[in-house]
Amino acid sequence: MNTDVFSLYESNVRRYGRSFPAVFTRALGGTIWDETGKSYIDFLVGSGALNYGHNNPRILAPAIDYLNGGNILLSLDMHTAAKREFIEVFVDTILKPRGLSYKIQFPGPTGTSANEAALALARKCTGRSSVMAFTNAFHGMSLGSLAVSGSASTRELGGVTRHDVIRVPYDGYANGAFDSTKYIDYILGDPGSGIEKPAAIILETIQAEGGMNTASALWLTEIQRICRNHGIVFIVDDIQAGSGRTGEFFSFEFAKIEPDIVCLSKSLSGSGNPLSIVLIRPEIDVWKPGEHSGTFRGNNLAFVTAGAMCKMWSDKNFTDGLKRTAVNLQKALDDLVAKFPKFIEEKRGRGLMAGLKCRSPTVVDRVHDVAFKNGLLIESSGPNRDVIKVLPPITISDDELHRGITVLTQALEE
Ligand SMILES: *Cc1c(COP(=O)(O)O)cnc(C)c1O
Repeated sequence: MNTDVFSLYESNVRRYGRSFPAVFTRALGGTIWDETGKSYIDFLVGSGALNYGHNNPRILAPAIDYLNGGNILLSLDMHTAAKREFIEVFVDTILKPRGLSYKIQFPGPTGTSANEAALALARKCTGRSSVMAFTNAFHGMSLGSLAVSGSASTRELGGVTRHDVIRVPYDGYANGAFDSTKYIDYILGDPGSGIEKPAAIILETIQAEGGMNTASALWLTEIQRICRNHGIVFIVDDIQAGSGRTGEFFSFEFAKIEPDIVCLSKSLSGSGNPLSIVLIRPEIDVWKPGEHSGTFRGNNLAFVTAGAMCKMWSDKNFTDGLKRTAVNLQKALDDLVAKFPKFIEEKRGRGLMAGLKCRSPTVVDRVHDVAFKNGLLIESSGPNRDVIKVLPPITISDDELHRGITVLTQALEE
C-alpha cells in the first residue's frame, strides 16, 4: 500500500494514520476494508461517531434519495423541510418518550462548537464567568473547551490559561478516596472557601478520553441537586456517551436526571456526517436572535440521516438488539478480565461503552499492534493510555462482535 503522499505532504499532526498504517476504502456495518482487500472489525468507530455502523442502509437510503432529489444541502440556520422533519422526529421519537422538554440550538457541526455554545449560554444567563469542570475531562480542542478539559498535553496547547475554571475530582477519582459531591456542596456554601459560584458545572457521564471513568447514578443525582440548590447551570457533554452508545439514547437516562443543557454530536447524524445540537431547558434559552452563529449549522444531509437514526429508536427490534449486544459485550469483557488478571486491572464503562483498564500502557500498545495485524481496529484512552477502549458499533452483528472479541483475546494471549 502506497502511503508516501501522507508522509510527504500531510502534517506531522496525523495520528490514526500512523497507528493504523493502511489505506482504507470500503466499509459496511462493523467491518472496514483496506486497499489490499484485508478486512478489519471496527471497535474504533470514528471514536464514537459511527455508533450505527458504517453505511447503515436504514440511514443511508433516505440520504441517497435526498441527494438525488435536487434538495438543499447547506442552509445556515434558515428553515428547510429537512430541518423541520428532523426537529419533528427528534421531538417525537427521542424527547417526548423520555418526558424531556428542550429547545434545540444548532451550533457549528463539531462537538466542540456545541460545548462552546453551552458554556457561553450558561455564562450569559447567570452573569457569572467561572465554570466547574472535572479531572480527566475532555470537551474538545477549541479554546473554551480546552480550558475545561483535564489533560496536561492538550492543556498546554496554544498556552490556554485556566482562567475561570474550577477543577474538581470526578466520581471515583484518587481511587475513590474522595466524595467530590460533598466537597463541592461544602465549598459553594462556605463564604470563606475562596471559590466563587460558577456559571455551570460541565461533565461527561463516562469520561471516554479520560480513561472510561464512569459516574454512578447517585453521584450524578447529587451533582444535579447541587446545581439546582445553588442556581448553577448543569451541562452534560453527551457528545461521545450519548446518541445510543450506552444502550440508551442519552447516557444519563439510567440516573433519571434532567440536565439544563445537553450537548450532542459525534453519532448524532447516524452516518458520520458532522452535526451537533445543544439541548436547552426552555427557561434558560436567553439567546438573542443571531447572537451565536456558525456557517455549517445547516447541514441538511446530516438532518436527513439523523432523522433516520432517531426513527430507529421507536423500533423494538432495534432497542431489544441493543440490550442483547450490550449484555454479550459485557459478558465477553468479564471473561477477559477473569482470564488475564496479570494484564487487566478492571472493566470500565456501561452498556456498549466499555473499556479495559490494563496494568501498563505497554500491554495496551502490544494489544493494539497485534489486533491490527489480525484484523481489529481498537484504540486506547486515559491520561496514561493504559485503557483499551472497546467501542463496537451498537448495531454490530453477533458474528462481527464474536470475531472482534476473538482477535482481542488472541492479542492479549500473545
Ligand atoms: C469528541 C468529543 C468532543 C469534541 O468533539 P469534536 O467534534 O472533536 O469537536 C467533546 N466532548 C467529548 C466528550 C468528546 O468525546
